[in-house]
Amino acid sequence: MMTTPTYTRRFVSRAAWLMLLTLLTTASSITVPQASAAIAPPELAVTPLAAVAPSAALTPLNVVVSIPPLRGLIEPLLPPGSRVEVLIPPGVSEHGFEIPPALLAAVVKADLVVQVGLGLEPGLEKFLRSSPAPARVVVVFAQVMGHASDGGDHATHSHDKDGNCIVSTGSDPHLWLDPIAAKSLVREVSSRIIELRPLAGVELRDHPTRKAARAQMAALDQLDAEYKGVVARASTRMLVVGHDAYRLLAARYGLETVAIAGLSAGEPKPADLARAIAAVRDNKLPAVFIEPQISPRAAQRVAEATGAKVLTLDPLGAGDYFATMRQNLAAIAQGLGVRADDAGGGSGGGGSGGAGGVPERR
Ligand SMILES: [Zn+2]
Repeated sequence: MMTTPTYTRRFVSRAAWLMLLTLLTTASSITVPQASAAIAPPELAVTPLAAVAPSAALTPLNVVVSIPPLRGLIEPLLPPGSRVEVLIPPGVSEHGFEIPPALLAAVVKADLVVQVGLGLEPGLEKFLRSSPAPARVVVVFAQVMGHASDGGDHATHSHDKDGNCIVSTGSDPHLWLDPIAAKSLVREVSSRIIELRPLAGVELRDHPTRKAARAQMAALDQLDAEYKGVVARASTRMLVVGHDAYRLLAARYGLETVAIAGLSAGEPKPADLARAIAAVRDNKLPAVFIEPQISPRAAQRVAEATGAKVLTLDPLGAGDYFATMRQNLAAIAQGLGVRADDAGGGSGGGGSGGAGGVPERR
């Protein structure tokens, strides 16, 4: 069970508050925890909108998301007291995890389900088909991005002999790793939440969820700017990554990735290792990347063969989307040869607000 207070405490770091203050007229809708729902932070309580449309007036929602980063993206949009269940728990790869029936049971009473699609969550898809609920709203990230998602029945792609999904670039499910794609999801989910919890007599733009969505999209723009800032100072454009999760991120920022394991994080083949080793040597890359959810063995072999150091990129994190994306950015900065002093505050450290290696804010 993940309730909102834990997350909000972590998310609303001092830096995040500063950013919200500059970007928002009010952040009352960010205040998800029940305990503080009625009391906006003092500096935010002066806005008239808070009195007109108290988010505390909204009934909480039961929400299920498939993977941890979706939680971080949508949790701030929810009415206070809402619950968010994550089906694929932190520490587990997004590929091939069989969601336990006890976890899937949360889907039964969910008002809102948010998933990626493109075959990433076949167990969830099956469950949704087998237990339809007319009132349940299901948002599929891939559909928001214009993919005609097959909903996990694997009709739109094939498998290799090891059972790994063979997905073309156009159906790469790792949509959440692109901050601009994440904005589209936030916009869509906020609209669905407002349909589920309308506020009579309140203009749409003043709905707490809409205001929270604007803040979240501004935060994603900021994240986007930070990625661009790091890439602009890079001495290489190539990353050798643990599995093929970063194509969309790379395309967004003009990077190139060589994946040691494939799109579904299967066991790397000798040819994959050779390709990764050649990429490190040819481009004199300072680092290769492992991931917390998959075996580091192959990447370690590449590192041993080339002298590159081993860094971590986490495609999922534990639910704090921005912290994960900034930790990844700090690692990417090192992998791209951005010097620590060049990256603004040290690319290796956590830093305050989880924004290690991130330049000053706009
Ligand atoms: Zn993946």
